Amino acid sequence: MRTSREVRLASRPLGWPTAENFELVEVDVPAPDRGQIVVRNLFMSVDPYMRGRMNDVKSYVPPFQVGAALDGGAVGEVVGSTSDAVKVGDVVLHGLGWREYAVLNAAHAKVLDPNAAPLSAYLGVLGMPGLTAYAGLLAVGEYKDGETVFVSGAAGAVGSLVGQFAKLRGSKRVIGSAGSAQKVKHLVEDLGFDAAFNYKDAPVAEQLAAAAPDGIDVYFDNVGGDHLEAAIGAANPFARLVECGMVSRYNDERAEPGPRNMAMIVPKRLLLKGFIVRDHTDRARDFYRDMGEWVRDGKVRYRETYVDGIENAPRALLGLFGGENIGKMLVRLRSA
Ligand code: NDP
Repeated sequence: MRTSREVRLASRPLGWPTAENFELVEVDVPAPDRGQIVVRNLFMSVDPYMRGRMNDVKSYVPPFQVGAALDGGAVGEVVGSTSDAVKVGDVVLHGLGWREYAVLNAAHAKVLDPNAAPLSAYLGVLGMPGLTAYAGLLAVGEYKDGETVFVSGAAGAVGSLVGQFAKLRGSKRVIGSAGSAQKVKHLVEDLGFDAAFNYKDAPVAEQLAAAAPDGIDVYFDNVGGDHLEAAIGAANPFARLVECGMVSRYNDERAEPGPRNMAMIVPKRLLLKGFIVRDHTDRARDFYRDMGEWVRDGKVRYRETYVDGIENAPRALLGLFGGENIGKMLVRLRSA
């Protein structure tokens, strides 16, 4: 019988997670029931939202369970099938990452065209993070040509695309913040941002004011905290603040106070709106059309950061909170 290694939640973290919160377990891979497939995972995604699922709180996705394997986006090759729709040899996108082999109903897998793009792209630029950037900027942020956009977490999977989409759609000025000099250079020199700064160098409000002398019209928030406060301060009247994520807060042991300048929302008539990508699947068709073209024509550039081996998947997840990735963070699986 085939065996598979999977990562389980060993315990719930308080504050920053550590390796001890995870355990690697070897299990037998069961034979597929009628309509099921067996998938050998090739890539799995680690995403900041998974930190929230390590807590036992009610949210838009259920929490991971202690003693059970984690899950999340993955791409793999079908090595067994009792389904008429999905065949051995197909490559599929599905939701059972964090394990080398997944057994699932074929209806829960999406067959991919392996010749259309590198397979890893379906977890990043052509996948959930790509749609997040696209729908967040255009639908939630109601971005219009000629506006100035500020995006935090700008060198990450979502942020790097937000800035490029805005430039492609005629932004007057795109400003990004990130956590290292190397990332700042990448944003300006490789991705075409007009300005970028390292948020660790000086207070965000000061650096943003210098980078956006005429204010900002859209803030795409991946970080929260001091970035959100700075964005409220720099916002022009009627600016939209797209609340995509607040990664600077995910490991907090207790809730910190919010921005001190919330009162400015009224006179500036700001719109501050949270969103979850899965509420915007109506944009998926437009997204695949536009993104497919932009990537093919080299108008959108993307990077990926790889960590190898299922045993290192927890390290990859924790690496997101240390800023170890440029572009999408992925785990490459190499099971036999
Ligand atoms: P990223 O690829 O951007 O990785 C996370 C990045 O966050 C790191 O690279 C790091 O970069 C930055 N970071 C970590 N800690 C801090 C901190 N304390 N302050 C500032 N930056 C920090 O991840 P994603 O692109 O996948 O996700 C970006 C955001 O979008 C997250 O908040 C995520 O939760 C959210 N999200 C929301 C979705 C939705 O539906 N609403 C869907 C997908 C993502 P650096 O070196 O710059 O610090």
